[in-house]
Amino acid sequence: MYLERFRLPGKTAIVTGAAQGIGLACAEALAEAGAKVVLADRDAAAAKDATAQLSSKGYEAEMAVMDVTDSGRVAELADELVSRYGRVDILVNNAGIARSETPAETVTDEHWLDVLDVNLNGTFWCCRAFGKHMLAAKAGNIVNIGSMSGFIVNKPQEQCYYNASKAAVHHLTKSLAAEWGSRGVRVNAVAPTYIETPLNAFVKTNPRMYDAWIGGTPMGRMGKIEEIASVVLFLASDAASLMTGSIVLVDGGYTCW
Ligand code: NAD
Repeated sequence: MYLERFRLPGKTAIVTGAAQGIGLACAEALAEAGAKVVLADRDAAAAKDATAQLSSKGYEAEMAVMDVTDSGRVAELADELVSRYGRVDILVNNAGIARSETPAETVTDEHWLDVLDVNLNGTFWCCRAFGKHMLAAKAGNIVNIGSMSGFIVNKPQEQCYYNASKAAVHHLTKSLAAEWGSRGVRVNAVAPTYIETPLNAFVKTNPRMYDAWIGGTPMGRMGKIEEIASVVLFLASDAASLMTGSIVLVDGGYTCW
């Protein structure tokens, strides 16, 4: 009875930024649980490869080219998927950029706006476009990928724009959960620690940063993409049916210190 609650047969899910890293792992986790998964990314070639990778494992996967900062395209894809499949049950807002290591006083307008545009605006455009259809269906499930950077200030790298964007994603999550809670749509977020992905592959060649990251983590290691995807699967499934507005830290204990 309990394991059944994690399964997603007959569900349709979309994951943004799914061409690699955490997004691809989330897509695979949802597909393994039985969902048909749409891998959306602004990088068409990478999305094609990622989708082929999941299809070759026997999962129902398709790609969509979508830049989350393009609200018109986001709305168009939401309408298109709902008209094709009847509804979209699960949305994972994963697309995000960091552009770390820029001190606040040197951040350009372009840099600030770019990070906020992808991480915050993009998340909202997707919540609004897919959420509208979920509200009409009186059912749906949204998982936003936030960050522990929405709770703490990372060190030693400066990244005020990223930290602010993720704190905003967390509060957006709670705001939407409150608005939509009585209308069948759950909205939660996962706040990861440092995860081994292309986004921060550079850190292994930077001992000062790597030591600060690992030394600041009670579990003494970075996370793996599967360790985020399995929590996303939990939140997207009926196993988390009483959860909405939760920001689930998955941080190896980093925020304890
Ligand atoms: P990644 O760079 O490995 O992959 C990001 C994917 O998003 C890429 O496929 C990229 O093409 C896509 N993307 C970027 N901008 C896009 C846009 N405007 N529209 C559509 N697609 C876009 O990143 P990752 O490390 O897997 O991170 C995924 C998410 O997890 C991000 O939101 C990130 O902030 C968050 N996160 C990551 C870490 C970490 O340590 N890696 C930690 C905490 C939170």
